[in-house]
Formats: sequence, structure tokens, C-alpha cells
Amino acid sequence: MPYRNTPKLIFPINDIRISSEFGDHNFYDGEDWGIHLGVDIDARADVKIFSIGKGTVVYSKLHPGEISKIGIFRNWGGIVIIAHRDPIQKKNFYSLYGHLGKRFVKRGDRVEMGELIGEVGKSMTESNGLWENEHLHFAIYEGPYHSKVLPGYYNAEKENTELEYWKDPFIFIKNYNSQISQRREGLK
Ligand SMILES: [Zn+2]
Repeated sequence: MPYRNTPKLIFPINDIRISSEFGDHNFYDGEDWGIHLGVDIDARADVKIFSIGKGTVVYSKLHPGEISKIGIFRNWGGIVIIAHRDPIQKKNFYSLYGHLGKRFVKRGDRVEMGELIGEVGKSMTESNGLWENEHLHFAIYEGPYHSKVLPGYYNAEKENTELEYWKDPFIFIKNYNSQISQRREGLK
């Protein structure tokens, strides 16, 4: 399926306060989670999340996490993945939004840049994946996509993904927009 070209990209959230950077090596509950493949942006429950570009929703599900006798298994909560196409590089890429309390889009939906796709989930609920801090995990993926959920962390032992498939989202957006404005200048 050819994905839809997006002429430009925006940020997925209005107020950007980063609590964990792309590439950070993070530990939770004494456990090594590995290398962070996106950015965490602090935001209260119900803060609105927008599609960064024109695209097609390829994944929208709840991964609730679990509380058991052995402990808390944190997860994505609500997660949405949107496929986009870069008309200059002629390449597909994916934007990923995790810990959404509400999801307003489903698989197969076409979305516009800036379209409301969800809201941040409430602390320690299934919809935020049982995390204490209310936040959006936002990531950009350029690897092959097989209609499955993608990881939030790179773990060399689990061989769950390749680091080179993931980009620092804010640098990616900046470069994307400047590449496209340069191309437009060139065509004038
Ligand atoms: Zn994260």
C-alpha cells in the first residue's frame, strides 16, 4: 500500500517539556530497560495529541500492562502508529505515540497533519500502561514495518529492533521541514 506524502511535519503536542531524551539509557524499578528510542514529553492527562503529518494509521491498540504479585509490568497503554511518505526521499517513515488515555483513530484511518488523534493517559491506569508520570512517548521509525507494535527501548539481548531504524524526533522534524523548503526554493 503506498502511503500518503506529507509535505511538512509539526510537533505532536503544544507544550514541550522533555523528561527523557532520545538515546537515554533508562532504568525503572531497578531494571535496565535499554536505550530510549523516542522522547518522553511530560503532559497531564487529557492533553491533546496531534498527528505530525499527513498519513495513514497502521496501528491503534491498548497494551494495558499488568499488576501482579511479583510486581508491576509497565507497557504502552494506548498506542498509535502512523505511516507517512517523504515525497523527496521517496521513503516511508512512521510516527509513534505512546501512553494515550484516549485514541480517536483506528487502523486504516487517513489523517491530516495536525489532526487530533488522542489524549495523554492518566497516571497508573491501564490506558497509560501503569506509569506514574503522565507523559507522551513520541518516536520516529524508519525501519521495515510488519503491522505489529514497535518497541520503546532497544535491548541488545532481546534483539527487538535495530538502533539505526530510529531517529531523534525533533532533529528529524527540523531536517524534514528544511529539506522540503530548500527543494521548493530550487523549483522556483
Ligand atoms: Zn519513553
